[in-house]
Amino acid sequence: MRLADEILAANARHAAIFPGSLAPGPARRLVVVTCMDVRIDPLALAGLEPGDAHVLRNAGAVVTEDVLRSLFVSHSLLGTTAAIVVAHTECGLPRLLDPEVRARVEVETGLDPGALDLRPFADPAAEVRAGLRRIRESPLLPASYEAAGFVYDVATGRLAPVEEPGLAGS
Ligand SMILES: [Zn+2]
Repeated sequence: MRLADEILAANARHAAIFPGSLAPGPARRLVVVTCMDVRIDPLALAGLEPGDAHVLRNAGAVVTEDVLRSLFVSHSLLGTTAAIVVAHTECGLPRLLDPEVRARVEVETGLDPGALDLRPFADPAAEVRAGLRRIRESPLLPASYEAAGFVYDVATGRLAPVEEPGLAGS
């Protein structure tokens, strides 16, 4: 079966039990920024239900310019006031620093991996800290905007908080 046909067959089953539209604004006024890893359920890990939060995913839970753009839209148009950044154990992004993997990228793409904006990192907690800093420093979001960071353990389902040294009162 072609991909589109497979998806349409699955969609017909979805539509048959569709409960009706939710309100567009996240009920908990929250955004979850996390990795695309299949072992992460971004709502369940924080006790959230569909409709509670916006979810922004990419490879590595990196707070990119596009994530900041989406946080702005979420805040400005749909009323969210806080974000959590959730990286995780066993993430693939550190592998992009491996010379063997980089050599393979070069062979597969014909491009210099150093020139590609792949955003690899060695330490998920450090990357979360950097992401929180980008959120706090973004002129797109108000000073009252709240942000917290975690590393999710894919083996236990537990979140470990990422401390931010130098942040008063936390
Ligand atoms: Zn990951």
